[in-house]
Amino acid sequence: MNRILLHICCGVCASQAVLRLREENFDVAGFFYNPNIHPQEEYFRREETARQVSSILKFDLLRGPYDKDNWFAKTKGLENKAEGGRRCNLCFKIRLEETYKMARQMNIFKFSTTLTISPHKDSGLINEIGKEIDREAFIFRDFKKEAGFQLAIEFAKRYNLYRQDYCGCIYSRRERKIS
Ligand code: SF4
Repeated sequence: MNRILLHICCGVCASQAVLRLREENFDVAGFFYNPNIHPQEEYFRREETARQVSSILKFDLLRGPYDKDNWFAKTKGLENKAEGGRRCNLCFKIRLEETYKMARQMNIFKFSTTLTISPHKDSGLINEIGKEIDREAFIFRDFKKEAGFQLAIEFAKRYNLYRQDYCGCIYSRRERKIS
């Protein structure tokens, strides 16, 4: 079986990505690395949901550091960019690069991300970023295809899992007018 390290943006999105990769005979380990999530209570909530999904679907879950100061430093100057713009491109890159680094440390030679399941995210762009990091190692799958997102929502309802209502950073939270 091919081992793959899957970057997990949240547990609900991970559910379908893990199931689909397994259908392709991948041995999936998950990597929760999301220093973009604020505030910290929200981060812990999403991390816990990822843990619940790893327990339901029985895959190993690694947790990256919550290095939010580094994330804020890297995205400085892009605070006012709208969701889907340059700040997001960088945010994807930060998370994919860390996933790649962790995969190499673990002697896993393939990596991917759950991010493409979101209807708000440009899968083509995520593919480009992954391929820039390592063309051979990045496995691109557009998980939103074949009703991936809808199936993830159904999974969340079935297991009574927490579902967030904004992307992650404080800027996206403001954009959705969440206090
Ligand atoms: S809106 Fe989402 S993808 Fe964009 S910078 Fe914020 S957390 Fe990252």
